[in-house]
Amino acid sequence: MKKCALITGASGGIGSEIALRLANDGFCIAACYYSDEKGILELEEKLRHTGAEYKVYKADVSDHEQIKDVFTDAAEVFGGVSVLVNNAGIAQQKLFTDITPEEFDRITAVNFKGVYNCCHCAVPFMVSRKSGKIINISSMWGIYGASCETVYSATKAAVIGLTKALARELAPSNIQVNCVAPGAIDTKMNGNLSNEDKAAFAQEIPMGRFGTAKEIAGVVAFLASEDSNYVTAQVITADGGLT
Ligand code: NAP
Repeated sequence: MKKCALITGASGGIGSEIALRLANDGFCIAACYYSDEKGILELEEKLRHTGAEYKVYKADVSDHEQIKDVFTDAAEVFGGVSVLVNNAGIAQQKLFTDITPEEFDRITAVNFKGVYNCCHCAVPFMVSRKSGKIINISSMWGIYGASCETVYSATKAAVIGLTKALARELAPSNIQVNCVAPGAIDTKMNGNLSNEDKAAFAQEIPMGRFGTAKEIAGVVAFLASEDSNYVTAQVITADGGLT
């Protein structure tokens, strides 16, 4: 039977590595992106080499109707989504008092409502099958809080709360819901940091370096695999020992 993994934010640094890893692990891939045409084309090129079946979807995770259409199509193409990776996210570094209500709404809509939207569309199929895995990408800042990233940190904490509650609700249906909380990972999300800033930050990390997107994909691969069948409601932090 085909197993499909749907990954949001697949055009980005971490999402593209997750899509590639799961393709290599034998999943069909529904790769979702929002605006980065170049990023998704690069991923498509790499996916082609894996030999995995895949389809690309352009959708805004904050829009329930668009996400519903993606899941409806994925059900027709792949027979349903077995593994959902909620990875899409946006960050913003600003003093709390400088964050406008509109910016607050946008970050929460993408980082938190986006997770709700995808879970909401994924769960009925998983319940009907009595199996499924949901993997949410939070952040170490969702656990500890980052200065000048208040709303981002709050949305990532909300994702952890949703994960733990949904995991308990879906456990009787044999659906596992877990979170990965990455530390500092070298992607375009940290593109605003200068090389000097990155080097200074790296010095604070016990492992002395940023993590790679591949290393996060490895944790996701475990949570997507049958090796994690008894793991649910967990937050796995991958931050080189920082927190
Ligand atoms: P990234 O390279 O900037 O990728 C972000 C992805 O999210 C992109 O694919 C982007 O799509 C997608 N996205 C943004 N807005 C969207 C929307 N409205 N609808 C659908 N997709 C949308 O960042 P990344 O570092 O890979 O981050 C991936 C996840 O890891 C995020 O949730 C982030 O918060 C989390 N994280 C990252 C770090 C880090 O240090 N990098 C640390 C902790 C947690 P387009 O580019 O196509 O618009």
